[in-house]
Amino acid sequence: MPQFDYDLITIGAGSGGVRASRLAGGYGARSAVVESDRVGGTCVLRGCIPKKLLVYGAHYAAQFEDAVNYGWTIEGARHDWATLINNKNKELDRLHGIYLSILKNNKVALHEGRGVLVDPHTVEVNGKRITGANILIAVGGWPTLPKIPGIEHAITSNEALELPKRPERIAIVGAGYIAVEFAGIFEGLGSEVTMIVRSQLLRGFDDDISAALAGEMAKRHVNVKQGAEVTAIAKQGELLTLTLSNGEKLIVDCVLYATGRTPNTKSLGLEAAGVKTKENGAIIVDDWQRTNVSHIYAVGDVTDKIQLTPVAIAEGRAVSETLFNNNPIKADLENVPTAVFSTPPISTVGLTEAQARKVYGKLDVYESRFKPLIHTLSGRDERTYMKIVVDAKTDKVVGCHMMGADSPEIIQGIAIAIKCGATKAQFDATVGIHPSAAEEFVTMRTKRADPEAQAAQ
Ligand code: NDP
Repeated sequence: MPQFDYDLITIGAGSGGVRASRLAGGYGARSAVVESDRVGGTCVLRGCIPKKLLVYGAHYAAQFEDAVNYGWTIEGARHDWATLINNKNKELDRLHGIYLSILKNNKVALHEGRGVLVDPHTVEVNGKRITGANILIAVGGWPTLPKIPGIEHAITSNEALELPKRPERIAIVGAGYIAVEFAGIFEGLGSEVTMIVRSQLLRGFDDDISAALAGEMAKRHVNVKQGAEVTAIAKQGELLTLTLSNGEKLIVDCVLYATGRTPNTKSLGLEAAGVKTKENGAIIVDDWQRTNVSHIYAVGDVTDKIQLTPVAIAEGRAVSETLFNNNPIKADLENVPTAVFSTPPISTVGLTEAQARKVYGKLDVYESRFKPLIHTLSGRDERTYMKIVVDAKTDKVVGCHMMGADSPEIIQGIAIAIKCGATKAQFDATVGIHPSAAEEFVTMRTKRADPEAQAAQ
């Protein structure tokens, strides 16, 4: 009789948990996953996938406008929110089915219910106890909202994806990934959007990229109230009145908070298992995703390394490769590319200019701002912005940033070059694809003036 019911019990069937448990099962380990919701996790059920489907849906409005100068007559185009939401839900049902098959095909036992650790090897699910030689915690995170009067009237991205009706006027609090993505969705579909931003749009991204997005959002009539915070929310009938820190009042139909996410570690039994967390609730792990308890691991948003689906997947894979395939690997979190599906989208890999100055000192910075070819005819006043940050001493490209159509598709390829340590000379030696926006990354030749030299003048 084996000492434990399973070789690996994974708590949480999101992207990271499913990858780890199905690889473990595929390698012949006795693998179980515990999930209180549907299988799929944040990305599939209430994050990346439904969000991007809504982004696609919203983009048609601008495409219809842009088509006119290409000779199209588009009459009577109207949007039906319920159709979009229903079709999005059907796609999520399909993906949920695929996830269930993946688990089944890899002989992973699914325990439906909330999993709580009762000791370092035992998980309780619906009153039943199961034991594992190894435990993987992959329970993700949940939106966090500030405690202000009336906050119960606010929604989060979870509800925004399920609204019965599109709000005519929506306020969005926050200025990170989720806030700017939903601003684009609701603006595209015809809502009046006001963003309430306490510091700056996409703080932490390259400053020129944030500024470029702010410019494009203004052109699309997204109202950005910068340097303001909401101090109270009051509901009268169907309307919400927001009081801002500057004393201003704002009346809207809906207020969406996108003010960050915190790890789902409350009431998980971490104390009973002896697993240590940081003050913000994130599980502390080493480079191997191992917690302070040697057979308990954690991956994805429940740790606070990088909150991105492909990172959780890489971490989940690393755990199972190491434990069950005699292939010890760590998730490589250097130069992780990322995209914000704002309108227009942003994508980036490597260091921002400010970060690179701290690390490398002297930089060569190349940038390009242009009207994409499609808009020479459409007449839309939209600019694309691209930037290359180079370590002046070694000529190595240390950061590439782009705001503009298809930037996530373009930066994914650029990320490979950066991962390989490409130099600017190697970018320059690459022949461009013409006519494309991407070719700018291999044709930028003029260095931006050095700020130190400019200051000296
Ligand atoms: P982010 O951490 O990206 O942004 C949080 C935003 O909320 C910041 O603008 C922050 O402002 C602001 N904020 C925080 N607290 C308050 C407050 N009390 N009042 C007003 N504003 C506040 O969080 P998100 O919720 O947007 O997303 C969570 C994570 O999910 C992201 O970090 C990302 O990793 C992931 N994600 C990834 C996506 C993708 O890959 N495309 C899409 C969506 C999410 P300040 O800058 O001043 O701190």
